[in-house]
Amino acid sequence: MNMPAKFPIPANEAARLKALDDLAILDTLAEPQFDALSKLGARLFNVPICLVSLVAVDRQWFKAKHGFELCETPRELAFCNYPIASGQIVTIEDATADPRVASNPLVTQDGGIRFYAGCPIGVEADVSLGTVCIVDVQPRTFSIADQEALIELAEVASSLLKAHQRRVTAETQAAQLAGQATIISTQAVTLATQKRVLDQAAKIAKIGAWESDTKSGALIWSDGMFEIHGMEIGTPVPYGPHYNMYLEPHRTRLKEAVGRAHARGEPFDVEGPAITADGRKRWFRVVGAPVDWGQPSERWCGMKQDITEQKRLKYKLETLARRDPVTGLANRSACQAALQDAVKQSAGQPVTLLLIDLDDFKGVNDAHGHAAGDQCLRQIASRLRSLQAEALVARLGGDEFAIIPDRTVDADAGELARRIIEAIRRPIECNGAKVHLGASVGIVTAVCGVSDLMKRADLALYSAKDAGRGVWRFFTPELQVAAEAKTAHISQIYQALANRQLEVHYQQQVELATGAHASFEALVRWRQPDGVVLAPGAFSAALDDPELSRQIGDYVLDEVVRQAREWTDADVAFGRIAVNLSASQFADGSLVAGILDRLNTYQLQPSCLEVEVTENVFIGRNASLVKDKLGQLRRAGIRVALDDFGTGYASLSHLREFQVDTLKIDRSFVSRLGRTSVETAIVQAIALISLSLETEIVAEGIETATEAEYLKALGCRYGQGYLFAKPMPAPECARLTRGHNIRMVGRLDVWSGP
Ligand code: C2E
Ligand code: MG
Ligand code: MG
Repeated sequence: MNMPAKFPIPANEAARLKALDDLAILDTLAEPQFDALSKLGARLFNVPICLVSLVAVDRQWFKAKHGFELCETPRELAFCNYPIASGQIVTIEDATADPRVASNPLVTQDGGIRFYAGCPIGVEADVSLGTVCIVDVQPRTFSIADQEALIELAEVASSLLKAHQRRVTAETQAAQLAGQATIISTQAVTLATQKRVLDQAAKIAKIGAWESDTKSGALIWSDGMFEIHGMEIGTPVPYGPHYNMYLEPHRTRLKEAVGRAHARGEPFDVEGPAITADGRKRWFRVVGAPVDWGQPSERWCGMKQDITEQKRLKYKLETLARRDPVTGLANRSACQAALQDAVKQSAGQPVTLLLIDLDDFKGVNDAHGHAAGDQCLRQIASRLRSLQAEALVARLGGDEFAIIPDRTVDADAGELARRIIEAIRRPIECNGAKVHLGASVGIVTAVCGVSDLMKRADLALYSAKDAGRGVWRFFTPELQVAAEAKTAHISQIYQALANRQLEVHYQQQVELATGAHASFEALVRWRQPDGVVLAPGAFSAALDDPELSRQIGDYVLDEVVRQAREWTDADVAFGRIAVNLSASQFADGSLVAGILDRLNTYQLQPSCLEVEVTENVFIGRNASLVKDKLGQLRRAGIRVALDDFGTGYASLSHLREFQVDTLKIDRSFVSRLGRTSVETAIVQAIALISLSLETEIVAEGIETATEAEYLKALGCRYGQGYLFAKPMPAPECARLTRGHNIRMVGRLDVWSGP
């Protein structure tokens, strides 16, 4: 079978195909007008087949087909390619004789096409979308009149296509309109929702939006703006006068800030208090920016918010941060801020600060409980407040208060201090009991910064406390000099510690009856570069400084256990070494473990160690902690001695509370023995107490044989003093442990008795 001839393609094929596509007619349903036309064509030309064919890129599709079964054929079989390519009517009277189509299967098949006449159709001139064609299975002739008739039929078909095109366009537009309408109505719903949400949010956040024209003075407000101003929605608001709602001096400040922003074309963000139209005082925050961003502009827009609640909250928080919750007085940071202000406003004039410390306030807490303590503090606060109306009274913490007197009151600060002490001294009703308190006051009047004022007042307060209770002291340069000397001294001793200039000397303790060596007490010494050896009295500041005394304590413990090991190894019968512990060592959580670790490291028995504490370690907040730690040491087998016994002001009560193994009678009693009957009676009493408590007694500071005899006669078993040995370096001590110390006159006849 021969292949069909290649069909001709019109010059405007691309435009033609696009137009066909735009017409959106291919594969649409049958339409009666088109069907009627094909039927009419068949009748008119007395042919079996009349088609309205549309020729697409690869097929011809029949919009109407009279006398034909197929809906479409491949394009290469289409006779219609010829009228389309030529743009004219094409007549093939006998297909078998026409080389263009003779081999077309539609021709060669049984009962195939013999006659064809087709005329182009379309919606615009020169663009043929298809044809109206008539077909017969018999060869035929087609007259000029016939051709004209077919052209007329084609014109009718073209007008049907145009009608279709209009319908399609109308439908597309309608669909588009419908789509737009849907979008618009959805948008309208969304916008309405958004507006409602925004309005609601604006209402909750108390926000309003505004736009202004600075030239015309027009001011446009959102509903929210009217609401936050307490105004009827729509009330006219003139631009300038709307500033009048703000209170001075904020009005001027806001006007100036906004004016500056206007001049520069920059955004502004300001806030200030205002009175609303319905008479409420509110704080507003206003932010604005030029509509034409970044240029000087006449049109501005922004928002305004009622920030009254935020302001209130902030004020409350600031107040809380500045107030002492117990007394309601200013707290430390507020006091410092007030002092800062006072210094600023003093214009080079002296500023006065008084620091007040309650004497023995801890006793109130201990005796009556913390609630009662707080009640006392409140009463004291109100008494201090009533002393001077405009003074700033602050509680700095614990039992410490401060007063910054009113500068405008020309009062004598010393007189004020006197009245403070007097006011605090008046009995305070507390839980039905009368509480008696005292106070010490430090005063500074100076031209200096806040921290110097605080430091100087502190020094004055220390000096007042040193001078006894119920005393006030002014700051003097000498106090500063002394404080600086103390600081320098402390740093010197830190240096001494680092340079290994500290050493430990040992003082012997003997059995008074026999003069036999009993034990040693370790005493720290400072050997200066020039060889002079200083006792702790010369560097007492070091033992008072918590950190330094802790470090010294550690050094002494290290040295003592090392020495004990050395003596043990050298078979020196040293007995026991007593080590003095300071209060700050008890604050160190690792004291007990540190001592036991050292004993363990040096393989020493706990019984070779004794710790000495003075009564001051029992005083203060850490008493129960000290009791606990001493208990742990005793349970571990380390003895505990109470040093300087009898000099504290509650010695007996401490004995009741804290268990000790040894009482050390203070030198002050020993040195006066025999002079008055009182000392003798005291020592005798201590001896009796120790007997009943089963504690040992060591008398300190025995310088004469007479003292030794007295003590022995009064029942005191051990003694320590220059009579037997002064504190000395370890190498000199070994010989003391051998034999008996015989520096005693062993006669009772010197004893004259009380
Ligand atoms: P303390 O523990 O009561 O030590 C006894 C003090 O009396 C020692 O003074 C000693 O030299 C002195 N003394 C002993 N016998 C006599 C005497 O017959 N006559 C006179 N006038 N004095 C005598 P020192 O060594 O100056 O120590 C003074 C205080 O320093 C000690 O009193 C103790 O409280 C403290 N201390 C000494 N070493 C240390 C230490 O390593 N740590 C701690 N925390 N304190 C220490
Ligand atoms: Mg001691
Ligand atoms: Mg002592």
